[in-house]
Amino acid sequence: MKLKDYLVPAALLLSASAFGSPMTDEQYANFPVYTGDDLELKVDSKGTHFTLWSPQADAASVQIYDTDRNTAPVQTLEMKKSDNGTWRASVPEQLYGKFYTFTVTVGGKQLDPTPGIWAKATGTNGHRAAIIDFSKTNPEGWDKDKGPSTKNITDAVIYEMHHRDFSVHPSSGIVHKGKFLALTEPETRSSKGDATGIDHLKELGVTHVHILPSYDYNSVDESQLPSNQYNWGYDPYNYNTPEGSYSTDPARPETRVTEMKEMVKALHDAGIGVIMDVVYNHTADNDKSNFSLTAPGYFYRHRPDGSYSDASGCGNETASERQMMSDFIVNSVKYWAQEYHIDGFRFDLMAIHDIDTMNRVAEELRKINPGIIIYGEGWTAGDSPLPVERRALKENVDKMKGVAVFSDDIRDAVKGHYSNAADRGFATGKPGNEETVKIGIVASTAHPQVDYSKGNNSKFPYAGAPTEIINYVSCHDDLTLTDKLAKSMPGSTEAERQRAARLAQTIVFTSQGTPFMFAGEEVFRDKKGVHNSYKSPDSINAIDWALKNKNREQFDYYRELISLRKAHPAFRMTTAEDIARNIVFDKVNVPNVVSYSIKKNANGDEWKEIKIVFNGSDKPYEAKIPKGEWTVIAEDGQLNAAGMGTAKGGRMTVASVSALILARTK
Ligand code: CA
Repeated sequence: MKLKDYLVPAALLLSASAFGSPMTDEQYANFPVYTGDDLELKVDSKGTHFTLWSPQADAASVQIYDTDRNTAPVQTLEMKKSDNGTWRASVPEQLYGKFYTFTVTVGGKQLDPTPGIWAKATGTNGHRAAIIDFSKTNPEGWDKDKGPSTKNITDAVIYEMHHRDFSVHPSSGIVHKGKFLALTEPETRSSKGDATGIDHLKELGVTHVHILPSYDYNSVDESQLPSNQYNWGYDPYNYNTPEGSYSTDPARPETRVTEMKEMVKALHDAGIGVIMDVVYNHTADNDKSNFSLTAPGYFYRHRPDGSYSDASGCGNETASERQMMSDFIVNSVKYWAQEYHIDGFRFDLMAIHDIDTMNRVAEELRKINPGIIIYGEGWTAGDSPLPVERRALKENVDKMKGVAVFSDDIRDAVKGHYSNAADRGFATGKPGNEETVKIGIVASTAHPQVDYSKGNNSKFPYAGAPTEIINYVSCHDDLTLTDKLAKSMPGSTEAERQRAARLAQTIVFTSQGTPFMFAGEEVFRDKKGVHNSYKSPDSINAIDWALKNKNREQFDYYRELISLRKAHPAFRMTTAEDIARNIVFDKVNVPNVVSYSIKKNANGDEWKEIKIVFNGSDKPYEAKIPKGEWTVIAEDGQLNAAGMGTAKGGRMTVASVSALILARTK
């Protein structure tokens, strides 16, 4: 997520806090900190207990409701000022089935009611928090549910999907279209008879799905689901509640909780992990966000004139350097990992967060699951008051232990610049990207044969290990790979563009680091040329599963590519030292050709040597292959992980826009 026109009205962008000038960083740093685990709501044998952290409040109250909206409170509890900036109220009953909001008065002004920042269940549109018994939300077998054990992040193959994109098209054959439950339906088939849904994921072989924002976001009106609104969901409202529009009944608070857990369990049962896209860097609203309505000003950064600073490009940015914001992020991801068994997190605009917070996130999550996967966008969408050296930037990734960043280096080098539609890259014939492709192959680690001064986006080996890098050529942002190729290869045939896509992804999936792909690329899905489809209708965003039949060979190529990577640890080294030792580049002075070997049974591979030649030029390339007994893995746009014939080495032709991959065991 990086674009500026999400949903905050211009007037809000310009206005300073409605509560007078915000305080200084030093003043916020002196706020009391509350570390109890009972924030906002706790139900036990003694009743229902409310604890709100609101240090500036002059008064605070809790409103109890019978329904999720449109009714007056049935009870109002005045809260008493308590320890460490908190306010407390209790009732002796267990209020299961009821809803609540908090209302605080700050500086003599009563703010709007808010469900708080720790609502774990809500009704429609999330304006009221719900009191439910979480022990009753677990699907059958939940206590034994476990995600795949991922020894190293480089063993993962990540598939980024949006719930509606994946299942909403009529061709999906899925009953619960656009819902969490879509990913629980076995044996779904397209109109052409191809596997869709969870069976499709199993057939493709990906190890993890990365689901676009699935916490409660603001833009889709959950009371109007039949109108089929679409949004990516980068407009957070309740961080600790699933999004209602992905449930079958947003008004019933238990439903979204149970259905999301059923989704996780079905994926786990299929051997697939679940990574959540999390957007703690900004909120949908400014003065009316739940942060602002509980502790106005505290959770955000401001400019010297008191206005909201905007490193997110969405109207505000959160302040992870403040203890209660840092704690919020850490405790929120811990909650998702524990309550929903989430296997990984992708941090949107991660560089808005400070390095220390990301290290806390990694350390705390690893206590819950040593194999948990954490990565993020190592950039901001605008400048921030947070000093550059404290930001969780791509260039600072080696200061974070167990956190990876997206490689925009490999992305732009392979396909061309992300924002210049017509720009080509290595796989589409533009010279000058060879060294950056090599940077991608070695996962931005130091390598004696890679000259970082020739890198397009980065001039030094910023990764200390390949486990710090996520490789990709497209994601939900910007043009899909299909659309990018169409716009940058005018006059080409679809077959030519599919060939370029295969080369591009072969570079991604054979490179060191962790491969990541956008859902539907394997069937050559497009988005009709729309680059920022965050609120485009289903007609733009939905994957037409009839494409799987039409583009079957493309799908088979992706499946084989994934199978190749999973079968061979040589593509999944875990240290920079191993890469420097085992990867040897050949001297090539031809534009758009990169040739290298992975030697010495790298990372315990049964293959002694793997020879890989990428030719992104429009001419065949004559490669000199050492004599030996080679198995041909990929050649002229075809790939078979089990091999397709043998070769003796010597001069071999690498066809235009293709990869040659050879392997030998002795
Ligand atoms: Ca919502």
